[in-house]
Amino acid sequence: MTPISTLDVTKIRQDFPILQRKIHGHPLVYLDNAASSQKPAVVVAAVSGYFLNSHANVHRGAHQLSVEATDAYESARAVVADFIGGRTKELVFTRGTTESINLVAASWGGANLREGDEILLTLMEHHSNLVPWQLIAARTGARLRFAGLTADARLDLEDLAAKIGPRTRMVAVTHVSNTLGVVNPVAEITALAHEAGALCLVDGAQAAPHLDVDVSEIGCDFYAFSGHKMCGPTGIGALWGRKELLEEMPPYQGGGEMISEVRLDGSSWAAVPHKFEAGTPSVGDAVGLRAAVRYLTRLGLDEIHQHETMLTEYALDRLTELDGFDLFGPRTGRVGVISFRYGDIHAHDLATILDAHGIAIRAGHHCNQPLMNHLGVDATARASVYLYNTHEEIDALVEGLLAARKLFGGFA
Ligand code: PLP
Repeated sequence: MTPISTLDVTKIRQDFPILQRKIHGHPLVYLDNAASSQKPAVVVAAVSGYFLNSHANVHRGAHQLSVEATDAYESARAVVADFIGGRTKELVFTRGTTESINLVAASWGGANLREGDEILLTLMEHHSNLVPWQLIAARTGARLRFAGLTADARLDLEDLAAKIGPRTRMVAVTHVSNTLGVVNPVAEITALAHEAGALCLVDGAQAAPHLDVDVSEIGCDFYAFSGHKMCGPTGIGALWGRKELLEEMPPYQGGGEMISEVRLDGSSWAAVPHKFEAGTPSVGDAVGLRAAVRYLTRLGLDEIHQHETMLTEYALDRLTELDGFDLFGPRTGRVGVISFRYGDIHAHDLATILDAHGIAIRAGHHCNQPLMNHLGVDATARASVYLYNTHEEIDALVEGLLAARKLFGGFA
């Protein structure tokens, strides 16, 4: 049954000034949310309010502004940790998902992986959850293995289970595919990893903005996500990790903030999470992310998900009626990331034509080159929805596709 949206989208759209823009004379239809979301005015105000009123460096200062900045930064940590059901001390601020995964691969991987150990990934991983593992595998002699996909482009759980063995040390998997939109059963995958004595890292870049994530329910060991995809600023994201693992792991980078004592012949480290936050942190961005999390929480993640599900079903109903429309990924068990081919119009041409109508979609390999090879394409067009999108915008996308087809004089 199609859920009913309880979000007041007309009101929500007023929170996002950029949505009032015209692009090439047309109202902006922003359907590139999987790449980055737009920002509500409260987030921009939180960042500017911080810099206009409370900025100083954090943690070591004795003066009032430093105390205020430190309070704001550490309060942001508590709010963001709570958002994904984690404890404050287990939340490391990073620049985003990419840095979070690099941190785990370099720090945990560097300390724990040996020749012959296996890291199990899947064919649908974003390059951010692949290249860091390639780097550490090359350094340690560990081997990468890949779980395949089913014929309808879901994760093949049987294949994944079969590839977990006594040599598997880490299973690293995306919660939601940024190309296929499929939601992977990460709790089940974590349980399989743990049964074999392996750890599980979940790439939550496409899940945290859209689903009510609870790391304790998933049971995973690490969870990585990015602020800019969930209404927050760019340049801030987080790694949540189990405290005992974070405590055992060596620092990722050295410098100020992450030490307890520095001598000429060696140093000791600050307690987690500060051990992993070398240098002056991005305080203003953390404050912005706190505002974004509060904004999303006030609207309700379940309500946001329900709205997106309804919109996705509407979009798929309308789009799959078009001659030449070919969806990548399954119809069900997915979120509103819609990758497709449209006749013989190349994805890049399609994105350019739609842009002329004010419609922003993405075209390319979406940092999923191995998945593109598996699908037998070099690129897909991708429309992705968020809390502020409307039925009318889906209609505009359909009209834009029809116009593209007309421009091309039909399909070959
Ligand atoms: N993982 C997935 C599934 C993504 O979709 C993305 C970004 O598109 C990333 C990782 C990388 O995120 P960031 O560039 O914010 O570090």
